This record gives sequence, C-alpha cells and structure tokens, in this order.
Amino acid sequence: MLEKSKVAVIKCEQYDRNEVIQAVRRGIDLIGSIPAIFGDIREKILLKPNALSGKVPEKCVTTHPEVFRAVATVLKEASIELQYGDSPGVGRVAGVMSKIGIKQVADELDIPLADFENGEFVSFPDGYRIKQFKIADGVRDCNAIVSLPKLKSHGLTRMTGAVKNQFGCIPGFNKPEFHVKLPNVADFSEMLVDLNLLLKPKLFIMDAIQSMEGNGPGSGEPVNTGFLLFSTDPIAIDTVACLLVNIQPDKVLTNTIGTERGLGTGEVANIEILGDNWREMVRKDFDIDRGPRLASKSSWKYSLLRQLLTSKPVIDDKLCRRCNLCVEQCPVEPKALHWKNEDHKNPPVYDYSSCIRCYCCQEICPHGAISNRAPLMRKLLDAVYPF
Ligand code: SF4
Ligand code: SF4
Repeated sequence: MLEKSKVAVIKCEQYDRNEVIQAVRRGIDLIGSIPAIFGDIREKILLKPNALSGKVPEKCVTTHPEVFRAVATVLKEASIELQYGDSPGVGRVAGVMSKIGIKQVADELDIPLADFENGEFVSFPDGYRIKQFKIADGVRDCNAIVSLPKLKSHGLTRMTGAVKNQFGCIPGFNKPEFHVKLPNVADFSEMLVDLNLLLKPKLFIMDAIQSMEGNGPGSGEPVNTGFLLFSTDPIAIDTVACLLVNIQPDKVLTNTIGTERGLGTGEVANIEILGDNWREMVRKDFDIDRGPRLASKSSWKYSLLRQLLTSKPVIDDKLCRRCNLCVEQCPVEPKALHWKNEDHKNPPVYDYSSCIRCYCCQEICPHGAISNRAPLMRKLLDAVYPF
C-alpha cells in the first residue's frame, strides 16, 4: 500500500514568539524528524519566505517574521546552516526584506541573504510546459529549499500557498513574462508544477496564523485563521489549506495538475492529516474566488469567453496615487493599461481587449486601488449555479 502524505495542522492563534516556536517544533516532529527530512544535508539550506512586496507584516502580504524566526531557530538548533531570499514583485530584495521585518530577524540570527537579483537559465527537459527556467543564483547555489508560503487569496490562481511560493525563485522581471507566454490559468499552473518538480523543496511550512482574503495577494484583508501547516508534499499541504478555507481543492488547478504529474497528492484519502482538530478550524466564510474558471487553450472562443466571464481589474480613482507601478508591471505589449493624459490627473485606463487577466497590476498596486470585478454574465451564472 502506498504511504500517505503527511500534513500537520497546528493551532497557533498569534505571532507570540514562544507559541510559534513550540508550534513549529511540534509540526516538524509530526511529519518526520529533521534528519529524516534533510538526510545528510546540513549546509546552504535556503529559507524561502513569501516577500511579494515591502508591506508591514500586519498587512499579511508576506510571511510573518516570527514564523521565519521560529523555523530558523529550530533548524539552527539542528546545526543546519541557513541562507534566505525571495524575488519580490517589485523593489530590491534587501529593501523589501527589511520592510517586511525578515532582514532584522535574519541579521539577529546571523543568516545571510542569498542572491535573488541575478540568475541563470537552468534546463529542465522533463518539463511539460516549460523546458528551461531562469533561476535566481541564491537558489541554484543552495542544497535544499525550505518553502515558507503565506496563505492568501489570489486573483489568477484563486489561492497562493506552497506551490505558488516557488515562483519567487525566478528573478525580477522574468516572472511577468510567464503571464504573457501562459495567459490562461491552466498553462500557468502547469508551469508552476514544472518549476516545483525542478526545484523540489524539502519542506513546506505555511504561515496561516493570519491569512489574506478578498483582494489578494497584494491588497486583500488580513483575517485570523489561527494555524500553521507542515508537510514535505506541496500538493497535499495546498489541498489541506483549501479544505481549511472552504474551497474545493480541485478548484486550485495546481492541485489537480500536480497530482497527475506526481509532484504530490491532492487526493484527500491519500493524505494523513495530523495535529490538532482541523475541522474545528475551517473558515467557512473565507473570502476567496470559488466561481468558474476558463481552463481552455488560447483561441478566439477563449478570448470571447474571457471578456464575458472573467473578472476585470478596475481602479478606484480615490485610492490611486498615480505611482505608475501597475503600468510598469503590465507584461503585455503594447500595455493593456496606460495613461490617457500625460499630467496623470486621472488613473491609468485599461484596454480590456488586450488585457490577458493576469492580475499582475492588481497584485502589485501598493495602495490597494485595484480590485477584480466580475462582469454581469459571470454574476448571473454565479446566481444560477452557486458554488
Ligand atoms: S492603480 Fe495603484 S499601482 Fe496603478 S498608478 Fe494607481 S496607485 Fe499606482
Ligand atoms: S492590465 Fe493588468 S491584468 Fe491586464 S494584462 Fe496588464 S497587468 Fe495583466
């Protein structure tokens, strides 16, 4: 009989230093000991938090520094030599790490920042969708990855968790290029699965003490979810995260694709859920997109359906500070978002016919001015076929 993937769900309701460290010790012990997870590897283990942008930890955009501290402390006690890094959506790595409070913890614990500004192409002949990735030097140089995702809603993939976290191993502006190459969510999810099969992190610890719901991953609302998740299987941990925020796991396409491709298991029957009573922690009202998605390949029918059914990014004039980041970030050429007048008196305007709905603009807006709005047809469908 096949061994089940283990996921530990540990209740932890606040970022209290001692409480988080106890929870991390317990979670790692439940899924297997440190030697069982890392084997003989003791050097150059990379801690990879989610450092999407330089917002304070209370905004829940990034992995909380106390989770980073707890994991680093427990691994250092086992004589593991660490480094850390991530490639943010915008800004220099060191500056973002400082703003989110992780640099201060890393300096205190004497953990060096790995190079995530530069990278080189790594070939991956087994890739189904992508055969080579540009990978940050800090990732290429490490012996193993410990992935520290933050649980958040996401405009494109619905949820960002363990699998999506490795997207930050691709440096700088190489990331938005994938949205152009792979505009629909199925292709994008296949790419994420390829990337995880290439990088194979050894351990995943998901920060869901507080999570982000609604307009994630950059501008949603923080919400107390009260748990940490642990696993060596990225698909199993994302599947359990889905159960905990009340979304069917197969609605997050990386779960189904990752199961088919052998990255892990999204079959709940094949997952051993350990730790605290997870059913008591389910957030039934977690604000996340549970509606239909277009998973078909590019075609005129796809484009038409996209216009009719998929959410459109819209800008709130009152919140927009005219910073231009959304325009810079838009990956299509010519831009699907531009300034109508040079004086920037009004916010940028969208050309929805060329917008590929990658939601990079919504993800990156530092002022929460962009949200995704469902078109009328989609609202009608949702009313008739509620999810
Ligand atoms: S919508 Fe956001 S990112 Fe775009 S210009 Fe306004 S504030 Fe900046
Ligand atoms: S306008 Fe926004 S959602 Fe549309 S392609 Fe550009 S970045 Fe993506």
